[in-house]
Amino acid sequence: MSTSNDTPVWAVDGITYWYFSSKVVWNAVRISKSDKSWAPLVWHKAVIPRHAITTWLFILNCNPTLDRLSTWGYDVELDCLLCGLGHESRNHLFFNCAFFAEVWRLITNKFQISTSPVLWDQILLWLPRSSVSKHKKLALLQGWQGAIYELWRERNRQFHDGISLSAVALTKIILFYYEGSV
Ligand SMILES: [Zn+2]
Repeated sequence: MSTSNDTPVWAVDGITYWYFSSKVVWNAVRISKSDKSWAPLVWHKAVIPRHAITTWLFILNCNPTLDRLSTWGYDVELDCLLCGLGHESRNHLFFNCAFFAEVWRLITNKFQISTSPVLWDQILLWLPRSSVSKHKKLALLQGWQGAIYELWRERNRQFHDGISLSAVALTKIILFYYEGSV
């Protein structure tokens, strides 16, 4: 994607789409959710579908982060739009990025959790094993998915419109979904 062409690009099951098809995504989710070890992280009884789909696409690393656009041959600057301190990739965004790390810190503070890892792969391993109550674990899964969804929206706002929110403002939006769950 060049800076003069804001057409979004989506890749599902190795196929590139020039439009977002919820039908394509939903069918791919339905087919693959049953046989993957990470399925319980994505699908739970309080799931919000748009949060789950965005999370699932990031688990497969299918969202058009700048590092992926570059490997597809698009002429893009790789610098993270939010912190400017690293190249944008899934693993940078969640949650190596200084901006997103602050949002994740505020969320885990709200859940009174002080031991969360900040690396993508480690969070995937930690979420099912975190030593919190069953009730709080569900809220934590919601918070994690909500963070991924809203953080990606924030990144896209900056990418397309140059509009930005503070880490505190974004955290308030994420926690709005879960005030009754914590
Ligand atoms: Zn960053």
